[in-house]
Formats: sequence, structure tokens, C-alpha cells
Amino acid sequence: MAHTNELQLIENRGWDERILVCRNGKLVDTFIVVSERFVVLVDTVINPHTATQMLEYAQPHLANGRQLLVINTHADYDHCWGNQLFAGETAVHPAPIIGSHLSPAKFQQPEAETYLAKMKELEPEIFGDVIFTPPTMLIQDKFVINGGDLTLELLPTPGHTDDHYSLFLPEIETVLAADAAELPYPMARTPDGLPQMRESLAALVALPAEMVLYCHAPVTAGRQLLLDNIAYFNAIEAQCRAALKQGLSLELDEETDVLAVVDCPYETAVPNTEKWQNVHDYYKTAGHASQIRAMLQWLAKEVR
Ligand SMILES: [Zn+2]
Repeated sequence: MAHTNELQLIENRGWDERILVCRNGKLVDTFIVVSERFVVLVDTVINPHTATQMLEYAQPHLANGRQLLVINTHADYDHCWGNQLFAGETAVHPAPIIGSHLSPAKFQQPEAETYLAKMKELEPEIFGDVIFTPPTMLIQDKFVINGGDLTLELLPTPGHTDDHYSLFLPEIETVLAADAAELPYPMARTPDGLPQMRESLAALVALPAEMVLYCHAPVTAGRQLLLDNIAYFNAIEAQCRAALKQGLSLELDEETDVLAVVDCPYETAVPNTEKWQNVHDYYKTAGHASQIRAMLQWLAKEVR
């Protein structure tokens, strides 16, 4: 995927005006929450360049004694590779970076270094300046920021990754779901993440929230997307169970074409509208197959 250094401020489509939505091309949305006490950056985009623009959008609000806070929803590159602006030798506006206690180790994995090196080589104009900067204020459970007029509840919502957090802002009945839900569906990093991801979706949909914003979905997706994601996993679970009843073996090898043996085409598991059909082919083929495979692995554990 080709990346861009552009970060656009999105026109308000009905959410509370204290939330600003920033968009980095087709990749990711990040958020600025302006409360009485704090200006909170929810994620730092892909590199120092995009994070600088985010900081510029935040700057006019850093008045009246408001302090800057930074949150990482999780440690994936499109959410935290702009961190270096806020901590360490490269910091231009030092601020606490709040993130899961599980996140820092992810920056230290050899695979993470390899990945960064590869990205620097492929797109030097985008990733050339990135310096790994893990979050500095580590949280483990629910964490609450009292912004005065707005409360930001950071809720552990593992599944997509084990270090994933979503935000709930009760005063304005708003959820920032990050990657806990996506269009067409969120992906668990490991098969074990699948049941966790479904639990997180259930927890988010149970919140009294009218407005839900995501990092990888249209800003108009609304709360309905949580329901659609839940329905998607329910649909593949039902079809997997049906296939097992029909005698499908749980010991599937790598070669098995799960889309052929479990009767669950992508189209039947998602709403029948253009938005859902016009997704990248990956989501209908390999991505969908990996979800079915993870579901079968989960069901196999249940049987044992
Ligand atoms: Zn993401």
C-alpha cells in the first residue's frame, strides 16, 4: 500500500464539536479530543510528519492552561509511529503517551525492527525518520481521564491486538472504537484473539453511545457497524458449526480451502449493500478465509 504524508481535518458530520477527526489518506483516522483540562491526541498516525500536522491542528486549543496528552490505542504502526514528537530526544512537545502495559515490548521485538527497516527501504520519504518511541505512561485496566467537561474512559478491548484500547466519553455518549471494529470486519492478530475480539465488540455495543467513530471505517458508519461486525462473526460461527455437524474434520491442514468446505461466502455474512460489496478483494477471499479458520480453531478448543 502506498502511504501519504498528508493529514486532513475532516468536516464534522454530527459528532460533538470537541472531537476533531484527522484523516491520513485512505489508511487511518485519528482523533483530537478537546476538553477543559486536556487536549488529547488519540493516536499519532504513521510518522513524525503526520503527527506534526496533528499537533498543528491541536495547537490552537492548547490555550487556557490546557495540557497535551497522547493516547496510543495500540502499537500498530498506523497508530503510534508519530510518538517521537512527544517523548525522548526527538520530542518537540513533550507529553505523556498513555498506552497499554503490553505495548512497549512490541517495539522491542526483532520482527518490529525488521518491519520498520523494510518500510524505511520501501518508502523512505514516509518512514525514513521514524524512531520507535513506546508509550511512557502504562495502563493495565480501565483508566479514566477527568478532562473537566469531558471524561475519557480508556477501556481494554483486546482481540485485534492484545494491547488494544477503545475510548468511551459518557457525557457525549460517544465511543472511539479504534480498531475494535472495522468495515468490513476487524482482524484478530492471532486465532486466540478472535473470541476476545467478539467479547470486546459485545462490550462496546453495550455502552450507552449514540456516536461511534472508528479508525478504519467511514465516519458515518455509526453504532450499526458494531452490530454488523457482531453479525458477521455470528454468521461464520453458525456456518462453521453447521459444517462440523456435516462431518467436517477439525484437523484442517494448511492446504485446505476453507472457503470451499465451509459454506459461508463473504456476501452472505455481511449486509447486502454496495458499501460492503465494494471492499478490497482480500476481505472476500484470504481475509475471510482466515476468519473462518480462526473460528474453526476456536470451536475445536470448545469441543475438546
Ligand atoms: Zn489500524
